[in-house]
Amino acid sequence: MNCRICNYSKLISTINLGKQPWGNNFLEKSEIGKEPYYPLEVEFCPKCSCSQLNFTVPKEIMFSNHTYLSGMTTTLDSHFESLALKVHEQFFQNSENLSALDIGSNDGTQLKHYSNLGYEILGVESSKNIVDIANRNGIDTRCAFFNEEFVNHINKKFDVINASGIFFHLEELHSVTKGIKKALKDNGVFVVQFIYLKKMIENYAFDQIYHEHLLYYNLRPLETLLKLHGLEIFDSEELPIHGGSCIAYVSHKGSRKKSNRLKKMIQEEDLKKLHLPETYITYANELQDIKNQNLSFLESCRKKNKTVFGMGAPVKGNTLLNFFGIDNNLVSKLVEINPLRKGLFSPGSHLEVVMENELSKPPDVYYVLAWNFKEEILKNNYELIKDGTEFYFPVEVKN
Ligand SMILES: [Zn+2]
Repeated sequence: MNCRICNYSKLISTINLGKQPWGNNFLEKSEIGKEPYYPLEVEFCPKCSCSQLNFTVPKEIMFSNHTYLSGMTTTLDSHFESLALKVHEQFFQNSENLSALDIGSNDGTQLKHYSNLGYEILGVESSKNIVDIANRNGIDTRCAFFNEEFVNHINKKFDVINASGIFFHLEELHSVTKGIKKALKDNGVFVVQFIYLKKMIENYAFDQIYHEHLLYYNLRPLETLLKLHGLEIFDSEELPIHGGSCIAYVSHKGSRKKSNRLKKMIQEEDLKKLHLPETYITYANELQDIKNQNLSFLESCRKKNKTVFGMGAPVKGNTLLNFFGIDNNLVSKLVEINPLRKGLFSPGSHLEVVMENELSKPPDVYYVLAWNFKEEILKNNYELIKDGTEFYFPVEVKN
């Protein structure tokens, strides 16, 4: 495969997590063992420094009926609320007749906050079941894949275009970016939020690598992509969400002044040698140590007959479970609050997903797969911790 951004052909293999099932494919009991496996391997482009998967599970398989709901956690909801307010106050405070488009708008959690600020809103979401939820909640949402053709069809321009946690999913990267260029008003701002590769490296958050995430961005390769289509980043910031995210604020080329914090963040990337393949190869070797630490902890629990439940059944948890080779000998079930995953089994590891409020008794140990919500989890489970349940975080976030 050639580079998804610059089309260069000589990519370098860096982080190989082996063959894994598609992580969002939670299974019915009758489907256990029948799930297909695909390569999960990151390659590095020495020309534009973008890290990317070398295999694409077709988007029609991955995004037509997924079960992720962004409104499920209060951390995300309040993040989306403050983001909408910040974008409005910084860029559009004195403007009228404002409009916002959200690409991959999910259940409408982000758009709800723009609507509260008086914006005319439109969501685009490819998962039919989630579009229905959004529309029932009064968020105008179309069931479609956003791309250039979609923009030609709606023939409208927006002040704000938002893409949260979706820009690394894109199989049609160039068509989508062209669509954004066309749908953005002259003075508009495209707000793109993505899991920041720099933080994935610093925090060993390798479980953010899964088939939905085709690309892993630092600011430099993202800038290369945007420039190809007449857009540019003028500001950026780091956020603790999802274990380390980045927001890039993007405008038409030359229309807004570049901020100092953007320049600083790009310098920092260079300082950390994120433009060199060796950085990622060293990282991959270090992952083996983390795997060994986790397995010896779970093995010691098993020897002491402690019950261990996984906390959360996030998609990234499946990367972790499958890369570590964890099955129900080590973790007996996964405990969730998202009802869409109730009674299903995790792909590859085949752990049953049960609802937190239906547990008859807590385990001795919670193995926390949703480690990126550490603060919220520790706060919500204060009583359990006091009563002796141990919370083990397989990946420790260093902020
Ligand atoms: Zn490239």
